[in-house]
Amino acid sequence: MFCVDCGKELKIFREGACIDCYLKNHSFSKSPEIIDIFVCSHCGAYKYKNTWVTNLFDETLKRVIKNSFYISNDLRSVDITTNYGEEKERIECKVTISGLIDDVKIDEDHEILVRVRKTVCDVCSKRYGGYHEAVIQIRADKRKLSKDEIVVIQSAVEGLVEIMQDKGNRARFITDSTEEHGGLDFYLSDKGSALTITKKVQGKYGGSIKQSSKNIGMKDSRQVYRMTYLLRLPSFRKGDFISYGGSFFRISSISGNKVHVFEISSWMEKVFDVNALEKASILGGEELIRDMILVSQTEDEVQIMDPKTYRTFDVRKPENITFESKMVRIVGLDDEPYLLPEENSDPENNTKAK
Ligand SMILES: [Zn+2]
Ligand SMILES: [Zn+2]
Repeated sequence: MFCVDCGKELKIFREGACIDCYLKNHSFSKSPEIIDIFVCSHCGAYKYKNTWVTNLFDETLKRVIKNSFYISNDLRSVDITTNYGEEKERIECKVTISGLIDDVKIDEDHEILVRVRKTVCDVCSKRYGGYHEAVIQIRADKRKLSKDEIVVIQSAVEGLVEIMQDKGNRARFITDSTEEHGGLDFYLSDKGSALTITKKVQGKYGGSIKQSSKNIGMKDSRQVYRMTYLLRLPSFRKGDFISYGGSFFRISSISGNKVHVFEISSWMEKVFDVNALEKASILGGEELIRDMILVSQTEDEVQIMDPKTYRTFDVRKPENITFESKMVRIVGLDDEPYLLPEENSDPENNTKAK
């Protein structure tokens, strides 16, 4: 057969023409002159169709090209490459559409102008407008939060929200956070993540959660409620000495509603429910511990000396143990001294040389 275009005797590809002539007279892609890409000036998200995505610029550009170019269905294994200089407001961009027509690879080049338009995305417009569906209130029972607790809880809550955002949940955000009445308030975009976060903080620091809701009006013809999750942390903290049921204890750890304690008189580990300890009185923390010089010891007792006053006194041992070091730690509770285990017998201090 002869090609209708070049007249050579060649295999006919389509419409009576050989493949070279056919490709010369056809194009398989068409481009607009201008493409607009919308970017959020707060968070840098890009708009694609009607959603906002946190993609890279080039990734977004290629998706928009794919969507706004005409690309023939005859072209298979389509690949889009872009070539441009600096990312600025107006970008001259060379776009190459490549693909296969039967087994022949073709490339078609286009020049477009990409306009990067700054705007505010859906999430940021809510966030900077103070939108919130839920409030997390963190308070402590019968006391204010300590400075340490405020710092640690603040960063824990922010960290949890970041994890949610990293998992692709960009609609979850903290609108605001404030220190209120010796506690912390967080204003959150949505109820679900607020409850999840409150439960996680409770899991780590104990306490009880109370929920309340408030009608904040109509939106899209339905009632909208704002939730408040109040987490009340226990009055005591890890490391505190407490008096409860005629015994003294030190708080070893708190998780959820379980409190692990160390009984001072018996050196036994015990576990209580947070609620059970509501009536406990808090005697103090670390500041009640004193270092004493060990003078001598018997099976039942140690004789110790206060390094400040040189006064000596006897203290009963909680069990038949032998103190190894020259110093011992005591805690004064209700004017009575009690021995504490040697520091290197704490699991946390196991690395210390004996
Ligand atoms: Zn031809
Ligand atoms: Zn944004």
